[in-house]
Amino acid sequence: MTEINKLNTKEIPTWCPGCGNFLILAALKKAVSEMDLDPSEVVVVSGIGCSAGLPHWIESYGFHSIHGRAVPVATGIKLANHGLNVFVVSGDGDGYGIGLNHLIHAMRRNLDITYIGHDNKIYGLTLGQTSPTSDQGAKTVSTPNGSIELPINPLALGLASGATFIARGYAGNNTQLTDLIVKGIQHKGFALIDVFQPCVTLNKVNTFEFFNKRVYDLNKENHNTGDFNGAFSKVFEFGDRIPTGLFYQTQRDTYEADLPQLKEKPLIKHSINNDIEGLLEKYK
Ligand code: SF4
Repeated sequence: MTEINKLNTKEIPTWCPGCGNFLILAALKKAVSEMDLDPSEVVVVSGIGCSAGLPHWIESYGFHSIHGRAVPVATGIKLANHGLNVFVVSGDGDGYGIGLNHLIHAMRRNLDITYIGHDNKIYGLTLGQTSPTSDQGAKTVSTPNGSIELPINPLALGLASGATFIARGYAGNNTQLTDLIVKGIQHKGFALIDVFQPCVTLNKVNTFEFFNKRVYDLNKENHNTGDFNGAFSKVFEFGDRIPTGLFYQTQRDTYEADLPQLKEKPLIKHSINNDIEGLLEKYK
């Protein structure tokens, strides 16, 4: 098994003490170790935001890209070398706001990518504005009288967009989160794992205490992960009880599998045509 130490960098995360991001990083490292993936087989791509620093703190390939553009970068990496295990880590502002368009199209394409949404219901890096997943009525520096908008439901969006693996984790339940990430890696297709990630500095409502009182494991109850309609009704449960776990899983061809150019081997293993003159002649 890959030792978790192999995945540790010498860099120390700059997150606030107690931030839920530490627990997501730990779960990701544990999942990669449990799957016995060599760090050279792993790429973690991020956009911008507090969570986006994560690729700096895991000893694998990484790409800290630009705001909302982690998915296009991850798509390019996956298509260039589909032998790699590609992860996207993205906050609610980065992935469900600025980058939402890219996320929807990656889900309908069913690229074999594991997407971890660090969902703290607030913009952290820019110090506390309302984000796309902030609850209606949320009072933040940008909505001091309370947000008047309905929040985005990432899991409903994933179901509607054709993602083939839909799950919700909670940073405060590391065993379950690790297990969901392992299952997401094993899944052939787009795995959307939205994770409640308390921001201990700026979100004083959706705290660890808030979630500890409410979350329950859907998969310990009588939930059928193959039932699309059942999953659709479950993703809207958000009150005294909030479900976590695997909501829905199905199988269909991945985008990579249906591309004839990638059937035989990854793109990077194809020989390069050095005959520039011949190529120019062909397109004259
Ligand atoms: Fe974490 Fe919030 Fe601090 Fe950002 S601002 S590092 S999300 S606790």
